[in-house]
Amino acid sequence: MARVCSPTILTLSDPRYTPLVIPTLETRRRLLMGPGPSTVHPGVYEALAQPVMGHLDPLFLAVMDQLQSMLREVFRTRNRLTLAVSGTGSAGMEAALVNLIEPGDEVLVCVNGVFGGRMCDIVERLGGTLRRIDRPWGEVFDPQEIADHLRDHPRTRLVAIVHAETSTGAHQPIEEIGAICAAGESLLVVDAVTSLAGVELRVDDWQIDACYSGTQKCLSCPPGLAPVTFGARAVARMEARRSKVPSWYLDVSMLRDYWAESRRTYHHTAPISMNYALHRALALVLEEGLEARWARHRRHSRALGSGLAELGFRPFAAAGHRLPMLNSVHLPESVDDAAIRRRLLDEHDIEIGGGLGSLAGKVWRIGLMGESCRRDCVLALLGALDQLIGSGGAGARSAAETSYGETAPEATRT
Ligand SMILES: *Cc1c(COP(=O)(O)O)cnc(C)c1O
Repeated sequence: MARVCSPTILTLSDPRYTPLVIPTLETRRRLLMGPGPSTVHPGVYEALAQPVMGHLDPLFLAVMDQLQSMLREVFRTRNRLTLAVSGTGSAGMEAALVNLIEPGDEVLVCVNGVFGGRMCDIVERLGGTLRRIDRPWGEVFDPQEIADHLRDHPRTRLVAIVHAETSTGAHQPIEEIGAICAAGESLLVVDAVTSLAGVELRVDDWQIDACYSGTQKCLSCPPGLAPVTFGARAVARMEARRSKVPSWYLDVSMLRDYWAESRRTYHHTAPISMNYALHRALALVLEEGLEARWARHRRHSRALGSGLAELGFRPFAAAGHRLPMLNSVHLPESVDDAAIRRRLLDEHDIEIGGGLGSLAGKVWRIGLMGESCRRDCVLALLGALDQLIGSGGAGARSAAETSYGETAPEATRT
């Protein structure tokens, strides 16, 4: 006779029963100077705390409309199909590729860091015919390489490239690549997860067909949404698909009916509070002005660079192609990567990023993204490094004197 197993139910008096201690949530306010997330503006926290409304409430629909208008401004585009995908930056990447690639399509992916590699993985999962070109990490592509590839592979349907490679700090020029793609049949997809609202990006002027971003880099919002925009050629490509988009959640033809003013067909429940947060974050970006924001990123990156040079850190990314919001530097021999980063966090509440892959232990990635890109952040980090490395205040002093025009920065008091 088969034995019926019944789960053992422990009674409270059983010595094997240990009651769950209900944990309390523990967090700390850190200065976020890594590769993202970045420091969140208090106004964005306020937006997150607003009452949740129904996702088809007329007031929430107005929030969505305004979000779309603000996203168009920030992307510098007039594309109707501009919205915030529910998910982080990688969901934006996947949304762009899953809607524009069909099995057998030839796709060129330019790889000079982690995120180009991630795009290759997605292309292969979609059954695309992947052609990749590589540059060493820290370098950028010459538009001629893309032109040569398209000449040799005229059936290429799509080119994908990263504008701001967060794994290396390299700043890829896009404009000429846009012109090259626009002259032929190939669509251009640009990863602007880290670049949006931090460096110049002009979706329409640069003829980018599809572009995606994330909320937690230079928009200084918590992670959770992925702004995306699709131009006319991309929309035509989607409409001409022979096969269904293989992702239900990210199928833009359905998302579009949810976001379209006249339709509002239920698709999924928008993460209401994150949409409030992005609304406030975009308003802050536009109040500051995009040009002013780009200039702020350049200014503080220069100050940080001058302080780091004083401490013996050499820039990693190729000269002339360095991102202001992601400063990658070689460590001097004397600096112990893990130990100093740990002390920065434990003793100074400052987070910076280590190197990825083969760069682990060799470089740091210091983010100056959005709200983390301020004079007090730069001086706090340099002051902390001065103390941990024992440089007698040289780093913060250099930044203050050369870039901020001051003589006695308060951040060097230790
Ligand atoms: C952060 C990042 C991503 C991925 O975004 P997640 O929000 O981590 O999913 C993609 N591309 C680039 C360039 C990034 O910096």
